[in-house]
Amino acid sequence: MSDARTALVLFSGGQDSTACLAWALERYARVETIGFDYGQRHRIELDCRQTVRRELAAQFPQWAPKLGDDHLLDLSLLGQISDTALTQDRAIELQANGLPNTFVPGRNLIFLTFAATVAYRRGASVLVGGMCETDFSGYPDCHDNTLKAQQVALSLGLATPMTIETPLMWLSKAQTWALTEQLGGTALNELIIEHTHTCYLGERGQRHPWGHGCGTCPACALRRAGFETYTST
Ligand code: ZN
Repeated sequence: MSDARTALVLFSGGQDSTACLAWALERYARVETIGFDYGQRHRIELDCRQTVRRELAAQFPQWAPKLGDDHLLDLSLLGQISDTALTQDRAIELQANGLPNTFVPGRNLIFLTFAATVAYRRGASVLVGGMCETDFSGYPDCHDNTLKAQQVALSLGLATPMTIETPLMWLSKAQTWALTEQLGGTALNELIIEHTHTCYLGERGQRHPWGHGCGTCPACALRRAGFETYTST
């Protein structure tokens, strides 16, 4: 059963957004992707995006005809006006307000707003994002209520329905691996392990059982822990 709407997936080239892309390809008649270059230290993820798209189309012929255009937006302004460990060369640590200094204030709100602008032009009425408030870094713009509020604001501001889907919102990282296995079997999980990028420091480096990365930054730690839970159950 295919949903006739066109979906635009916020696709960074990481594990979560690849899971969202597979989820959307299984569900919607047409799927496009959007990525953002905001001066992130892990810009290598932007190269991974194209590899993942290519591999998905090659390995899953049932999805290939649905996979439409990719849009890469230059949001270098966001990197210039935010002072964080994701966009500056500095140590990752907890701030006084309890949030890690990898938090780029308003990042998801900005991404979704620009995505909605592109979606409007492309005739897409669904935005899909990998935000999750189960195993996450505590970013307030990943909260379900934040995204529901933005869905209302965008739909009103554009005077057209704009649905924000977050299929990973209530899943643990281990459950995300189970979801992708359900969508594309071990082939999809192997693709995710080999080709997606998660590491905040932008290291591909060693290939661990869970994929490439430094193995110690918060993003790698979350990905490793989720994979270990998934494979041990
Ligand atoms: Zn790392």
